[in-house]
Amino acid sequence: MSISVGIGYDSHRFAEGRKLILGGVEVPYEKGLSGHSDADVLTHAVIDAILGAAGLGDIGEVFPDTDPAWEGADSIGLLSTVIGMLRGPVLNVDATLICEQPKLGPFRPSMVSRLGEATGGRISVKATTNEQMGWIGRGEGIACMAVATVDLD
Ligand code: MG
Repeated sequence: MSISVGIGYDSHRFAEGRKLILGGVEVPYEKGLSGHSDADVLTHAVIDAILGAAGLGDIGEVFPDTDPAWEGADSIGLLSTVIGMLRGPVLNVDATLICEQPKLGPFRPSMVSRLGEATGGRISVKATTNEQMGWIGRGEGIACMAVATVDLD
């Protein structure tokens, strides 16, 4: 076994007229997130954590947002592509979503399920607020942090 850990962070701004997709799950809300792909901030943080653990760069290098191929892309599909780049399995992923609204608790099991299917690893998804401080506190968007462990053997 050669276990490596990686960290990922992402943030996206809320936008009108977009679906809110988190961990491959559509969350009912009055706004979605802006971005070149489906703007799935959770899956993007997970992708960067896995790429970091494997030493394979970052999501912007692998899926450039200047490439029309990724416009509106399903981020779970991007995650599956990244899994295909690894020599060994993902062992676990732990992620924390940070936003004031919407409340994400009811959707966490579905997010865990989708990310687990895509990665093959043990998944934990947590959610917290920013106690009304800063841009997250003002409801301008959602941030996510993630760590992943990958067995590189
Ligand atoms: Mg992103």
